[in-house]
Amino acid sequence: MRRRGSILLTAAILCAAGLAAAPVPAGASDDVPPQPTGWREVFSPDGTITRVQIPQQVEAAPSRADIRAAAAAEVIPIQDTGSPDSRFDLVIVGDGYTASEMSLLRQQAQAKWNEISATAPWEKHRQNINVWLVNVVSHQSGVDNDPTQGVNRDTALDMGFFCGGIERLLCLSEPKAKAYAAEAPGADAIVAVGNTTKYGGAGYPSLATVAGGNAQAGRIAIHELGHSVGGLADEYYTPGTTYPGGEPGQPNVTTDRTGSKWSSYLGRSTPDGGVIGAYQGGSQYEYGIYRPSQDSLMRNINKPFNLIGLSVMDHAISSEIRRAAPGRG
Ligand SMILES: [Zn+2]
Repeated sequence: MRRRGSILLTAAILCAAGLAAAPVPAGASDDVPPQPTGWREVFSPDGTITRVQIPQQVEAAPSRADIRAAAAAEVIPIQDTGSPDSRFDLVIVGDGYTASEMSLLRQQAQAKWNEISATAPWEKHRQNINVWLVNVVSHQSGVDNDPTQGVNRDTALDMGFFCGGIERLLCLSEPKAKAYAAEAPGADAIVAVGNTTKYGGAGYPSLATVAGGNAQAGRIAIHELGHSVGGLADEYYTPGTTYPGGEPGQPNVTTDRTGSKWSSYLGRSTPDGGVIGAYQGGSQYEYGIYRPSQDSLMRNINKPFNLIGLSVMDHAISSEIRRAAPGRG
């Protein structure tokens, strides 16, 4: 299926290749330096983001038993607005919820969707988005290493804190999460919620993890959807680093210090504060690369998208809604 395939190919965190829908100027290349595998984003409650490399996890493909379990999982609509062929489909999978906790999963999934759909540009499209919840049943309640290291629980997606030794990094088995998500009628984006109130989450190439019971953690998913849906680059950086590549393909970073990539926006005020310009630092590098605004959602998860991010996200969401219904949306 095209849409599932698009998720598998959206290596947002590792290579952050721009989607075809993004307004990339002619002549731009996808000349992004290769990044080591095993990178994960770590989010702080104050909104700041850092990137760490964790030891490469060996994630076996789901076993036959896993696939049978995924196929048996109940899929329920949080909201069903129309055929997946003409809708944007967001899939939420849960981990660490037992059979008797399906109502808690439903409640926490709904809360995350409420938070996502209250932000721009999701808000304006919410009536044309399907949200599917996959009722993944775990043997035990909770996730690993919660509240402290050494606590192990038998859960369907192997979710746990202290991933790579980092307390708030909430990892899971990506292949298993995707197997469950594939049971939904459509999957343009995936968010995995864990049964925990402890702050945390993580960004994967194809999905985001968030603490289901933590009100601040939903912002993590909103940032990650910027990568997986919009093909946006990060706008934060590691101090002291210089960008080594050519013009990046992502729409919100450039090596051109004049910001001509987003020339029609230059000087306009932006929802994250200030005006659109060319601010040095982005895509993990401090020097030699520029971002459109001082402090957008792709740099601080407590901020909104800047005008460039908004435009790109709007286009990406709309294109899924319009595909089978030209002129709609
Ligand atoms: Zn990011």
